[in-house]
Amino acid sequence: MRQGIPSLFLILHFSVPINYKLHLLQIPVSHLAGKNILLYFSAHWCPPCRAFLPKLIEAYQNIKAKDEAFEVIFISSDRDQASFDEFFSGMPWLALPFGDKRKASLGRTFKVRSIPKLIAVEPTGRTVTTEARNLVMIHGADAYPFTDEHIKEIEARYEEMAKGWPAKVKHALHEQHELVLTKHRMYRCNGCEKEGHLWSFYCAECDFDLHPKCALDEDKGIKDDNKLEKAKPGEGWKCDGEVCSRA
Ligand SMILES: [Zn+2]
Ligand SMILES: [Zn+2]
Repeated sequence: MRQGIPSLFLILHFSVPINYKLHLLQIPVSHLAGKNILLYFSAHWCPPCRAFLPKLIEAYQNIKAKDEAFEVIFISSDRDQASFDEFFSGMPWLALPFGDKRKASLGRTFKVRSIPKLIAVEPTGRTVTTEARNLVMIHGADAYPFTDEHIKEIEARYEEMAKGWPAKVKHALHEQHELVLTKHRMYRCNGCEKEGHLWSFYCAECDFDLHPKCALDEDKGIKDDNKLEKAKPGEGWKCDGEVCSRA
């Protein structure tokens, strides 16, 4: 996953400016010096890209609020300028101009074979991860700065959190079977219909998921004699059952 790619920064530093928002104000690539960057390979025609965009915008705003030394660059696979303009108009970050020749070399450097693709690059030019999209999907802004060390730390918090939960529950929304505490990277909660990540109370037979938050909310009809302990996230963290965030 890790590879040295100083050439990326040579490419960026020594070539023409990058567009900024719809005003097409050109800003110099030197603006990126010292920043952690996400290269966002994406296109308006790609439904998963459109679906992922609101998640990325939310994460971007939260990361920016904590660390100015961060930027996202949209690298478009759109077919024409109009689609590029439309898609980019909803993004609060930077972009390579439509049709910029650097796109092809960046795509080759990072072996981009599918979109959306989100690649995290350190100020030194080192690739942190080419799988930042999954990390943003699962952890949102907490994934920043996307390093292995940081992700391991977050995952350890999740492990710790789950220790406070029962292994199985019975729930009024799924009376036919017990729900088993299961690691489930991404799912849709059959209780609140929202997305969930990492932990689910799950019935494999029926493919039925509940957020820990939804499964353990006693007001919503848990029919279990077990004493349900509340989640205990690590110090300095708060948990809503779906994500853990720094308090
Ligand atoms: Zn739920
Ligand atoms: Zn079931």
